[in-house]
Amino acid sequence: MDKIIKHTDILIVGAGPSGCMAANILKDSGRNVTLLDKYDFPRHKPCAGGLTPKTVEELPFEITDLKQHDSEKMLFKFTNGKTVDLNNESGACKMVVREEFDNFFLNYVKNKGVKLMKGKVIGVNDAPDEVIVETSDYKIKCKFLIGADGANSSVRRLTTDLKFKNPVFAFEGLVDRKLSSRNVPTKFVFNELGYGWIFPKKDHYNVGIGNLVYNSAQPKPKKKDLFSFVKDELDTDEITHITGFPIGTEGNEYIPTSERTYLIGDAAGLAETLLGEGIYNAIISGKYIANSIVGANNPKEVYKEYLKFLMGMKKELALYNKASKILYKKQRMSYWMLKLFFGKKFMNGYSEGKTLTEIIKGKYPFPST
Ligand SMILES: Cc1cc2nc3c(=O)[nH]c(=O)nc-3n(C[C@H](O)[C@H](O)[C@H](O)COP(=O)(O)OP(=O)(O)OC[C@H]3O[C@@H](n4cnc5c(N)ncnc54)[C@H](O)[C@@H]3O)c2cc1C
Repeated sequence: MDKIIKHTDILIVGAGPSGCMAANILKDSGRNVTLLDKYDFPRHKPCAGGLTPKTVEELPFEITDLKQHDSEKMLFKFTNGKTVDLNNESGACKMVVREEFDNFFLNYVKNKGVKLMKGKVIGVNDAPDEVIVETSDYKIKCKFLIGADGANSSVRRLTTDLKFKNPVFAFEGLVDRKLSSRNVPTKFVFNELGYGWIFPKKDHYNVGIGNLVYNSAQPKPKKKDLFSFVKDELDTDEITHITGFPIGTEGNEYIPTSERTYLIGDAAGLAETLLGEGIYNAIISGKYIANSIVGANNPKEVYKEYLKFLMGMKKELALYNKASKILYKKQRMSYWMLKLFFGKKFMNGYSEGKTLTEIIKGKYPFPST
């Protein structure tokens, strides 16, 4: 049977933060924009739900009703057992629950008139004048396709040769706050490949463990690592809602393969490798691709503009990669650096909404908009 044919100016695959950010700007500029997601919302997305202030500043709405905690105090524990305790009264991280945050963002853009379709991409035909995207029910014809479908992106697989060679992977789960006698602030416990975290929310802790430095002998953390981490830190064995998921890094290798098809967020590998923060780069890439489309007269100009942003992003990601190698591989040195001078600089910089390049080099890494 022939598939139903739909038309839209811009099709965004994936209604997570990167997709919704792009949809919001494109809709505001009067474009006909459609989001396609394989799930009904609210849906679970494995994520600790830490939003840095720079992320919050970029969002088109206030997060007052979504915020569950301000990380005014942060504890960093190193493999030598020593801890560095950092404080800032504005908080270096705002804690949300991802299901709620993503659902709010999606409803925000739907209320503006962004269309939402349910479906999974199974084919892409990038023709000279249009892109035809196929799901099991439809063929959707569009002028631009934006792949915002996360770390396991189908759009990336169908339209580029980009493969993540050293995948970053993390497990997360929930611990009811009543189950632990300890009152723990936002805490990072480093190991040689990454870290375990405790992120406080109103009635629970989001706990997790992830690898950020790739080691082929230990490519993924295991569930039992999460249990032993939580036993040590919160003195309980009860973790619910455990899920694992990759984080899309390695965007340093991404170059758009056509003038009509673009990847953003985790699909493009734009999460950073120091702490695995991905939401900021997801929404900022959504913002830049949308502004590139809005400001351009033709697809060639879109390509040129988005490439400028990607060049800035690659430098930012390289800085995170460098810092990550020092943090995890040279823990004694990192401990002293954080304790003596860098800790305060980072805590204050993050709390003031700065990017890593701004904190270290004093300049904004992306083109001015
Ligand atoms: C355990 C864990 C903890 C994390 N904690 C944090 C944190 O605290 N702070 C932070 O900044 N980052 C964190 N990250 C990273 C962060 O979750 C991602 O960087 C961020 O979600 C990327 O946003 P996105 O919009 O690019 O993709 P996603 O949020 O992954 O959204 C992709 C969307 O695409 C849809 N989709 C996927 N495939 C298809 C398909 N074939 N067809 C149609 N739709 C599809 C999905 O249903 C989903 O809705 C964490 C990641 C993990 C795994």
